[in-house]
Amino acid sequence: MSIRITFHGAARMVTGSKHLLEVNGLRVLLDCGMFQGEGKESDAKNRHFGFDPMAVDAVVLSHAHIDHSGLLPRLVKEGFSGPIFATPATRDLCAIMLEDSAGIQESDHEREVRHARDGQRVPPPLYTVKDVWPAMQQFVTVPYGEEREVVPGVRLTFTDAGHILGSAVVNLVVNDGTQERRILFSGDVGRYVDRLLPEPAPPPQADIVICESTYGDRDHASIAEAVSELKRHVEHTCVEKKGKLIIPAFSVGKTQEVLYTLNELSNAGELPRIPVFVDSPLAIDATKVVRDHTELFRKEVREKLQEDPDLFSFRGVEFVQNSERSKQLNGRQQPCIIISASGMMEAGRIRHHLRHSLGNERNTVLAVGFCAPGTLGAEILSGAEVVHIFGQPIRVKAEVARMEFYSAHADRFELVRFLKSQDPDQVQRLFLVHGAEHALHALAERFRQEGFPEIAIPAQGQGFDL
Ligand SMILES: [Zn+2]
Repeated sequence: MSIRITFHGAARMVTGSKHLLEVNGLRVLLDCGMFQGEGKESDAKNRHFGFDPMAVDAVVLSHAHIDHSGLLPRLVKEGFSGPIFATPATRDLCAIMLEDSAGIQESDHEREVRHARDGQRVPPPLYTVKDVWPAMQQFVTVPYGEEREVVPGVRLTFTDAGHILGSAVVNLVVNDGTQERRILFSGDVGRYVDRLLPEPAPPPQADIVICESTYGDRDHASIAEAVSELKRHVEHTCVEKKGKLIIPAFSVGKTQEVLYTLNELSNAGELPRIPVFVDSPLAIDATKVVRDHTELFRKEVREKLQEDPDLFSFRGVEFVQNSERSKQLNGRQQPCIIISASGMMEAGRIRHHLRHSLGNERNTVLAVGFCAPGTLGAEILSGAEVVHIFGQPIRVKAEVARMEFYSAHADRFELVRFLKSQDPDQVQRLFLVHGAEHALHALAERFRQEGFPEIAIPAQGQGFDL
């Protein structure tokens, strides 16, 4: 009889979320995320799971972000044939996000093959578009608050994590025949002042807690500052400097939040008359999924729908589907706002916009989300004078700014608030994952002050008997 957990990703880093729970020989994988950034090192880790996919009995997925879901098609391709438990909105988002991820890998692969030197071997994509459909067939949806058996001895209840549409905290009751353990896996925790989604729901008491730490060392700005700050950036760049405001944003979550704020400014007559381009096919699909799940919005936002049935669209906004139109925008000199993916600036059309815009001081690159170390986004934000895009050196003359309000992650104060639902005396062990070293240690210190006695920061591949 035994319960064991092994951390196969997001251990002392922020991507690749993957934790393997073993109960009496049955294996439940919590998340199946892709490692991102850091080039070849990530690629190697994405190709070797560190466990046998065929031996996994079930997956429980916290939310649709690629660093939590992105290796599901590969897991299935390598022999995993069990159910994937997720909320209905997470399933809908995964359908478009995994296909997008596969498409990016295929086109990156084609480009690498074109540029490969004679005899140089280019590794195949992790998976292709045709691998996504079989994985989607294995999804089993579970709404918030309903209990399901995952495998014999493991019962699951999702509670709302408030991070992105459909995001969940995973609450498990695990029984190995001799003992019972309540396990709480936070996934990613949202903000208590999110613009669209409700605040994270308080999860039930647990004995074992696995908590994310992305912003464990930071406190975010307040909600009121977010609207005025975005307005200030628009006026400064597009009106005063007559430049382009480039907003790299995750297609899911961030893009809709920025559109929602711009829509609000537009309704109030406070948005200058400049075109706004949403240049990401995935963001267009994601916005449709978000519109289909208005039941998950905050109450105040649902009420607004009575007066303004489309909260993500306003005069002057154009959703750019085809790549020809996207290329036209690259050459555009007039002031405009371009919202494009990916948020960490690693892939997608944003790289073309950056290549054409970074060299001009009239433009501003406004980061609104988290950029993992090693990504182009992190490099630009760190103040690099020259960056490389598609192998070409580009001098950074554009202004670079950051708005942390739009982070979909709770800050340190909010993570502490999230775990206020727990009596620390009952928590036998608190594992901190999904954070850079500094954030992990800062948060551990903070949680010690809150009375959590046993705090562990697991390393990649490290296992613990529970
Ligand atoms: Zn996330």
